Amino acid sequence: MQQAPFFQVIDGQLIGARQVPSPNYNSRPEQIEIQLVVVHNISLPPSQFGGGYIEQFFQNQLDWSQHPYFQTIEGMQVSAHLLILRSGEVLQFVNFNDRAWHAGRSSYMAKKECNDYSIGIELEGSDDLPFEDMQYVVLAQVTAALQSSYPKILQHLAGHSDIAPGRKTDPGPFFDWLKFRTLLQQYKANQ
Ligand SMILES: [Zn+2]
Repeated sequence: MQQAPFFQVIDGQLIGARQVPSPNYNSRPEQIEIQLVVVHNISLPPSQFGGGYIEQFFQNQLDWSQHPYFQTIEGMQVSAHLLILRSGEVLQFVNFNDRAWHAGRSSYMAKKECNDYSIGIELEGSDDLPFEDMQYVVLAQVTAALQSSYPKILQHLAGHSDIAPGRKTDPGPFFDWLKFRTLLQQYKANQ
């Protein structure tokens, strides 16, 4: 029997994600096709989980005085399309049809400005701690849904460190690409 998909993309929205709109986005260039998923990690403060600070940060609502680290990122206006929390809950900040601000100066296979043509997915995590199993499961389910809506993504999964080497280190040494790709094949087969 065919299994119902866990997530589904409709009009650039991920059904199954909690919608948390961010003001930090703009239009993708005309005629551009979505063709890459960029995997990141983020935690605020670094290596601490929970607290809702990432959501607040992406919504420009973080109180910079709450932690000394927050002062080092004060005023930054950034976003990602999706954030996968430690629990596996998925938050969507930016519609996939729009350009989120996650990659910065970057290039992938000689194409610059990855924000123009990519979908950015943040995992709540850090470079010095393992990710949760549930985060891999959900990342694979979400990526399977994205690949069926945006077929060019099929071949193109990268880490932030791959598209901005020397400048960015995430998703970091603990991110297990083989585990992710193996789960992704399973969910694709079930679609
Ligand atoms: Zn990143």
